[in-house]
Amino acid sequence: MQIQMVDLKGQYEKIKLEVDAAMAEVINNTQFIKGPQVKAFEDNLAAYLGVRNVIACANGTDALQIAMMALDLKPGDEVIVPAFTYVATSEVIALLGLVPILVDVDSETFCIDTHKIESKISVRTKAIVPVHLFGQCANMEEVIGIANKHNLFVIEDTAQAIGSRWKGMMNDELGIMKGEVSNNVSSNNLPSETTHHSSFIIHNSAAGSMGHIGTTSFFPSKNLGCYGDGGALMTNDDALAKKIRMICNHGQSVQYVHEVIGVNSRLDSLQAAVLNVKLKYLKEYENARRQAAAWYDEELGSIPGIVIPKRNVNSTHVFHQYTIQLEGIDRDALRKYLAEKGIPSMVYYPMALHQQKAYEIYNVAKEGFPVSEMLCKRVLSLPMHTEMTQEMVQEICAAIAAF
Ligand SMILES: *Cc1c(COP(=O)(O)O)cnc(C)c1O
Repeated sequence: MQIQMVDLKGQYEKIKLEVDAAMAEVINNTQFIKGPQVKAFEDNLAAYLGVRNVIACANGTDALQIAMMALDLKPGDEVIVPAFTYVATSEVIALLGLVPILVDVDSETFCIDTHKIESKISVRTKAIVPVHLFGQCANMEEVIGIANKHNLFVIEDTAQAIGSRWKGMMNDELGIMKGEVSNNVSSNNLPSETTHHSSFIIHNSAAGSMGHIGTTSFFPSKNLGCYGDGGALMTNDDALAKKIRMICNHGQSVQYVHEVIGVNSRLDSLQAAVLNVKLKYLKEYENARRQAAAWYDEELGSIPGIVIPKRNVNSTHVFHQYTIQLEGIDRDALRKYLAEKGIPSMVYYPMALHQQKAYEIYNVAKEGFPVSEMLCKRVLSLPMHTEMTQEMVQEICAAIAAF
């Protein structure tokens, strides 16, 4: 039995006819850029997530950068991000001359520890970027509550959690306004002052639809992956959506008329064609991942020293990763033992942001991020994909138990 971290080939085999036909259609009509597949995919994903606007772009890192540009964040502005995340989240902050302010994460959910956010807010803080790590939502009630209190924007990094839903309290219980979008639009159709209050109902909301902007990635191994690079932004604010669309396309809404500085960031038609097929199966894929996670729980739950991933009671989990924590178990030795048996495993992430050389300039190395540091030493991600079988999970877990 061949066990892989991710099995894109096995997944493709099952939808090959549909994907091949969709790609052939693009090649035949040669509308490689801005083909009808792109608009169709944006509409389909918006409906799937229950969000008013989806704007496709070239990748998930661009999506984050474009979000910060659209919110008019200026050099020197501070943006709050978790210390334990993929580097893309903080990279774009640095690239725009903004200052990443790191916050430690929760040891059970791996997401930003909302109790540690407020002490990091200063007069320069403009936004919070919760990352829905490994497939479940950060505590969005807390994040939105804090953001509203301090007039901050919320940009949700949903690269690992597309389809995950927040099931927390009704917004009425939180005193959050609901149902209104920013109508504060100036004559040139740019949001003159986008409302800072995230004013949407967050009960049973999809990841990416609760903040001012959500971003995601369609990198092949993500839960909704294309066959190359891809990404998207989501927002319920129509004026903001218009501005985002303009920024993605060189700052123009009319050709050769440039209202703002933009970038060239597009999802090409071939990728959109693949995504339109795969979106139809996303629910099924999500269930397959959740089933694999349940099998893992069952097999690993009683092995001493293995901590199975804790579910946030207020979020569904779409298991981009199934990540265990090792207590008193030599991780390198276990990985080597598994590798010898043909079982791959990965460490997401071996270093936190404050430990990276690139972030030395922000003087974060001396700050304490004890949970992030502990997780970097203890986490281990096991094979997780849509083609996992119970036999595979049993084989992996038997090897772990034997070790
Ligand atoms: C993958 C990922 C990104 C970046 O997406 P790309 O499409 O690879 O640019 C950003 N944030 C997180 C948390 C990710 O996992």
